[in-house]
Amino acid sequence: MNETEMKDNIYEPANINEKNEKDAKELGLYIHIPFCKSKCYYCDFNSYASKNDIIPEYCEALEKEIEYYDNIVNKNKYRVKSIYIGGGTPSYLPSEYITKVLKKCRKVFDVEENAEITIEANPGTLSQEKLVEYKDSGINRLSIGLQAWQDRLLVELGRVHTCEEFVENLLAAKKVGFNNINVDLIFGLPGQSLKDWFETLDNVTKMRITHLSCYSLKVEEGTALDKKIRNGEVEYPDEDIDREMYHSTIATLKNKGFIHYEISNFSKPGFESRHNLIYWNLEPYIGIGAGAHSYFERTRYNNEEVPERYISQISNGRIPKKNIEVLALQDNISEYMILGLRLTKGIRIDEFNQKFEKDLFDLYGKKIENLIKRGLISIQNGYLKLTDIGLDLANQVFVEFI
Ligand code: SF4
Repeated sequence: MNETEMKDNIYEPANINEKNEKDAKELGLYIHIPFCKSKCYYCDFNSYASKNDIIPEYCEALEKEIEYYDNIVNKNKYRVKSIYIGGGTPSYLPSEYITKVLKKCRKVFDVEENAEITIEANPGTLSQEKLVEYKDSGINRLSIGLQAWQDRLLVELGRVHTCEEFVENLLAAKKVGFNNINVDLIFGLPGQSLKDWFETLDNVTKMRITHLSCYSLKVEEGTALDKKIRNGEVEYPDEDIDREMYHSTIATLKNKGFIHYEISNFSKPGFESRHNLIYWNLEPYIGIGAGAHSYFERTRYNNEEVPERYISQISNGRIPKKNIEVLALQDNISEYMILGLRLTKGIRIDEFNQKFEKDLFDLYGKKIENLIKRGLISIQNGYLKLTDIGLDLANQVFVEFI
């Protein structure tokens, strides 16, 4: 408490318990919906096809877990600035479940009136009725997983929708009034040419969306795609083409008025993802649902991953938290560096010094000097940031701060 606040409390005792909007910390909520129509070949997320029968119990468990935070999160101290309903495919669920979960969030947490509320959706799962219900329940941002424009590539990825369904769903969303829409895309796919990728970028941006996430394909061990590559059914993506695609993405999207604000994320001015910025700025968030991760009051933990076990623990009155780790100051600093450097503007040096009451150069002077010599980072206008080469080799930079 600073001097002015103390004075306020002395002379206006009635204000002691009043919520002070200026002082409340911002908090993000993540809600995990682990159900999908089918499993995509490249996917290693905590998501399941053919578990539809447990959807009602799972959503009840979500509501119970949210209630648990009533006693944990002080409404006077934290206000929720973003809610992200991710998965899985949240739009696969009947929308009334989503409405109920959001209602519960509003009951338990102090959700800002203009909070960013995002739901992830896959083409083919959105209808006019669903979109209207989303809007009515306060959802104001959609994140649609298209991945590629070409149907033949969607088939190769095991996606169960067509590009036409994407176009239909996007137009329906706009008609209902959604004007903040992200589209997820993947490049570096087996069989994807530069021409395919340009066609994808071109056509998607023509649809006047506000945000694009463009990730390079990562072949995760144990996925169906990994097996196909090992069996020689599919060729491993070409590294050089992958990098060429990444560089041309940055140039193309900049030309189209997008800001490249994070390694893989692009937005129209003012449409950066508020929710993801919470992660990259190392601000607190609470994850609800199977496998969801939280970072709250310097403590990291995650929930039980298997939905059935998550449900049974909640029904038995147990909170399914595990891997609880109170981060030491040095861990927090490391995370702040690694996450903050993902942002293209980088880390504001004086903000770092103030936040941790330590001098960035006392801590990392030698490493920073070395990385600058290697051309991977630079200092510009008081920010420490990745260079263009550093964007390609970000992991080599991050490892220095672990
Ligand atoms: S829709 Fe998303 S979460 Fe579901 S299987 Fe495909 S990639 Fe995984």
